[in-house]
Amino acid sequence: MFQVGEVIPYFKMCSEEGINLQRGMNYRLGGRTSIILMSVRLGSPYADRIENNGRVLIYEGHDIPQKKGGPNPKTENQTMFNPSGSLTQNGLFYQAANNFKNMNNEAELVKVYEKVRDGIWVYNGIFKLIDAWQEESNTRIVFKFKLELTNEAINTEDTSFDNIEHNRIIPTSVKLEVWKRDKGRCVICGSKDNLHFDHIIPYSKGGSSLVAKNIQLLCIRHNLEKRDRIV
Ligand SMILES: [Zn+2]
Repeated sequence: MFQVGEVIPYFKMCSEEGINLQRGMNYRLGGRTSIILMSVRLGSPYADRIENNGRVLIYEGHDIPQKKGGPNPKTENQTMFNPSGSLTQNGLFYQAANNFKNMNNEAELVKVYEKVRDGIWVYNGIFKLIDAWQEESNTRIVFKFKLELTNEAINTEDTSFDNIEHNRIIPTSVKLEVWKRDKGRCVICGSKDNLHFDHIIPYSKGGSSLVAKNIQLLCIRHNLEKRDRIV
């Protein structure tokens, strides 16, 4: 299980999940916990955003698949159903959100990974899917999903300090700024392995997630050492 804010190579993310993650939306793939991959970089294909001071993620649904000679997926409505009549990933997540809203089900728990740059992913934590809707965007219809960061654990051993402490999403722009400033290395020892986006002043002690000056890169060893000092 990854820590919230941990930097991971793509292959490690896939081996943790036991699947080759290709798509942005993965509803209970193979009976597993649902997974969403986000990417909010400039020029990125989907318009995700972070709200409520880092507690809420608004995730945009996925486009129709690109077909040779077919229409540009970016100009077509996002769809609820596949041509076969089965639900698309949009449809599956939409249905889960509605079941929660109608109080038929507990909120779907969703693990969220974020691509910060090529080959570098960050684990953003476990979210509850609490709402979904369709809206107009550039003359087409897209899906929007509202996910709220939760401290709930999926695995019993996953009740770590981090889930309580780092319970805010660090915006991608801040992550990128910190990554460049710290040159992709632990600020203490220079290690490039097992890095973690660390709040210099912990969130629980009033430190912000939204400014680069309160975020730094630490390796796992220095992250644990710091954690032991604070607790
Ligand atoms: Zn270090």
